Amino acid sequence: MADLRDLYQEVILEHSKAPRNYRVLAPPSTQAEGFNPLCGDRCTVYLSLKGDVIEDISFQGSGCAISRASASMMTQSLKGKTTHEAEQLYEQFHSMVTGATNAHSEQIGKLAVFAGVSEFPARVKCATLAWHTFKAALHNEREPITTE
Ligand code: ZN
Repeated sequence: MADLRDLYQEVILEHSKAPRNYRVLAPPSTQAEGFNPLCGDRCTVYLSLKGDVIEDISFQGSGCAISRASASMMTQSLKGKTTHEAEQLYEQFHSMVTGATNAHSEQIGKLAVFAGVSEFPARVKCATLAWHTFKAALHNEREPITTE
């Protein structure tokens, strides 16, 4: 049986090579840009809301495997969620990758592959960049955000 850690690494590599929802959304969508100067990761998150529901979400960008995989899996997790559920998931993901909690809720699901990131503080910003950018898009922030 494959080591769980190897399996997680495989999932991350697979998503970074073939990111899901990697495209621009047509208007009227909202978007935000994020930059992680520590690693050089960049991403733009596009968001299409219908009332309170995330009808569609996509991203584009460049960066390391963790930042790309995180953005890819984030778009998969957030599509169809309400903005309230999305903000809750943001909090849970953030606590998990910063090591604030070891208890993973059911909602975290596949995102649990990023739990190992908490052992590498420099990588936490790679994993959270897309999430910070998503939040900026949700709140219509026009200035590009950075993780610094
Ligand atoms: Zn990175």
